[in-house]
Amino acid sequence: MARIGVFICHCGSNIAGKVDVEQVAEMAMSLPGVVYASHQKYSCSEAGQKTIIEGIKENNIDRVVIGSCSPKMHEKTFRGTIAQAGINSYLLEIANLREHVSWVTGDRDKATEKAFDLIKAAVGRVTSAKPLFPSQIPVTKKALVIGGGIAGIQTALDIADMGHEVILVEREPSIGGRMAQLDKTFPTIDCSACILSPRMVDIAQHPNITLYSYSEVESVSGYIGNFDVVIRKKARYVDAKKCTGCLECTTKCPEKNIPNEFDQGKAMRRAIYVPFAQAVPKVPVIDAERCRYLNSPDPATAEVAEGEKAPKRRCGTCAKVCQAGAVDYEQKDELIAERVGAIVVATGFNVTGTDEYGEYGAGKLPNVITGLDFERFVNASGPTDGKIVRPSDGEKPKRVVFIQCVGSRDESKGRPYCSRICCMYTAKQAILTREKLPDAEIFVFYMDIRASGKGYEEFVLRAQREYGANYVRGRVSRIYEMPDGHMVLKGADTLAGIPVEMEADLVVLATAATPREDAKELANIVGITTDSYGFINEVHPKLKPIEVARDGIFATGACLSPRDIPHTVAMSSGAAAKVGILFSKDHLKSDPMVAEVDPFKCVACGACVAVCPYKAINLEEFRGMKFAKVNEAMCQGCGTCAAACRPGAAQLKGVTDEQILKSLEAVTQW
Ligand SMILES: Cc1cc2nc3c(=O)[nH]c(=O)nc-3n(C[C@H](O)[C@H](O)[C@H](O)COP(=O)(O)OP(=O)(O)OC[C@H]3O[C@@H](n4cnc5c(N)ncnc54)[C@H](O)[C@@H]3O)c2cc1C
Ligand code: SF4
Ligand code: SF4
Repeated sequence: MARIGVFICHCGSNIAGKVDVEQVAEMAMSLPGVVYASHQKYSCSEAGQKTIIEGIKENNIDRVVIGSCSPKMHEKTFRGTIAQAGINSYLLEIANLREHVSWVTGDRDKATEKAFDLIKAAVGRVTSAKPLFPSQIPVTKKALVIGGGIAGIQTALDIADMGHEVILVEREPSIGGRMAQLDKTFPTIDCSACILSPRMVDIAQHPNITLYSYSEVESVSGYIGNFDVVIRKKARYVDAKKCTGCLECTTKCPEKNIPNEFDQGKAMRRAIYVPFAQAVPKVPVIDAERCRYLNSPDPATAEVAEGEKAPKRRCGTCAKVCQAGAVDYEQKDELIAERVGAIVVATGFNVTGTDEYGEYGAGKLPNVITGLDFERFVNASGPTDGKIVRPSDGEKPKRVVFIQCVGSRDESKGRPYCSRICCMYTAKQAILTREKLPDAEIFVFYMDIRASGKGYEEFVLRAQREYGANYVRGRVSRIYEMPDGHMVLKGADTLAGIPVEMEADLVVLATAATPREDAKELANIVGITTDSYGFINEVHPKLKPIEVARDGIFATGACLSPRDIPHTVAMSSGAAAKVGILFSKDHLKSDPMVAEVDPFKCVACGACVAVCPYKAINLEEFRGMKFAKVNEAMCQGCGTCAAACRPGAAQLKGVTDEQILKSLEAVTQW
């Protein structure tokens, strides 16, 4: 017969303020198998844990129920507590009396009644619990970092400096991400390229880092410590080993006038190009869709009618001018298989374009640009060589208006969240405007200023006081063009309570920071989740902000939500530290709460194989008998298979059908 101990936590007044904990402990004593019940102020504190250990030892308890906060908070703590008292740490059930009861129930009597039920159910469940034992998994001490913006760069360098191998996969032809597109950076106004480029070069030169640029992750299988990853290295049509980086090819290609994505389409590139001067690697890539050679018929395979001449390839200029013989039109995508022990997702963010905002001309007004467009205009290597001009006629603007919160904090646009970077980069852009256009009038329309970082408030004040930016609290409701080409803004000054109407030569919209369009797709490949907007989901916003839903995988930077560079860098060193902690062990203990299949009950229908999201079950054959088998290292313990298995052959250890039925019986019959 089980000897069960029940410990009810007050959680200060969090639980005890709504639930009569004394009554709950009293009621618990009446339940079958319960030999001891008590209540204490903070079960998770050192003193609380000591009381539990003493209670277990003094009463010869062999399984435990704790009524406390969510198991998400303290399951690990309490498993450790009962293990210290000599009990298998899986002979524990936690009844969530805080999130499931006191925080969500107004009436004290009802809350206490609900607590009774949860304790009964937990006692029922623990009665038929069985001891579980973790097994050992070896750790491959090599990490994969996905995304080569500042987040991925910092993470990769820190892991590599710890002495571990790192694979950095970047989708674009060069690493650098958004930070490479910026001119200066708040709050110190340092030149973005000057602080980023050395780190990009470090990536290329670090002996522990393998960089796969112009590459994407195709699939991820396996589990913490041992992920099998397939990377697609897209054809560049230039052999990186032969290319000397002279860039002669990029100046001779006749296929010009292709909008350069790096310059927000405001400058042109050729079909063979490097996205920007400090690109790493400095190896050109051929845009296969635009290259004349690659889009002309291949004489070797073209169908030729009798009497007609075989078609010739067009162009081929880059191959002709390349002294190193690096251009290789036959290059194909390569699939590379790697085994890694940990993965860090650092795929960053996007910003919306002007076309999304009908009230601001829907992308049709040439002198309405985004903050990111402005970064390229103001940059010395950008499309205007650093001059701030009106895109419509190249003239210097006399009045520049910045509008913050465009598409952010706007429920009607589906983005009630704050983009967090716009208040600060708008102040920076106002300062840069004053430096380049000393006589211009500068207006900033804002809802309120969110400048909570170190030195941020002072920075915004400098934009106003030293650089003469006129801050107007209010919204611009409409921008339109007069027949003579002048732009007019209409809106309201909500501090003065008056309508505003003004002309502007250039309008810069701080458009919403959004998830990457394919963030969900990548999350599916990696086996993690995204939030309702499409940003990667962390496990816990306060206590596990870098961990994601799958063990051994972490996330950092703006892929989690918009954030600035200081925050991104700090978090990325944190992600590297998490990987370092994982790699500090040669073996890991696996969670034993995984699925198992009883081969004698299994009818080999394959329902579990079809539903397992982690591909952790396969049908196997042994001596002519077919049955489903779980790969325990891959199983994440979600229990989907157990729910799908009709004969009940698939069970989740620690949450078996027997335990569930026992807890239902406890609630309905005890
Ligand atoms: C207009 C503007 C001005 C700003 N000014 C400042 C400033 O002055 N100071 C400041 O602190 N912050 C500023 N920021 C914020 C700054 O840009 C971000 O903090 C920073 O870029 C976040 O870095 P990240 O690496 O997380 O993301 P990103 O910079 O977006 O980098 C992500 C990288 O991942 C790659 N990637 C995406 N998907 C995949 C995939 N599936 N596979 C492989 N690779 C992938 C991308 O190509 C990219 O290289 C500004 C932002 C904007 C929009
Ligand atoms: S083959 Fe011609 S069009 Fe194609 S990248 Fe080379 S130079 Fe440009
Ligand atoms: S519990 Fe079942 S469905 Fe879930 S991961 Fe494990 S084997 Fe797959």
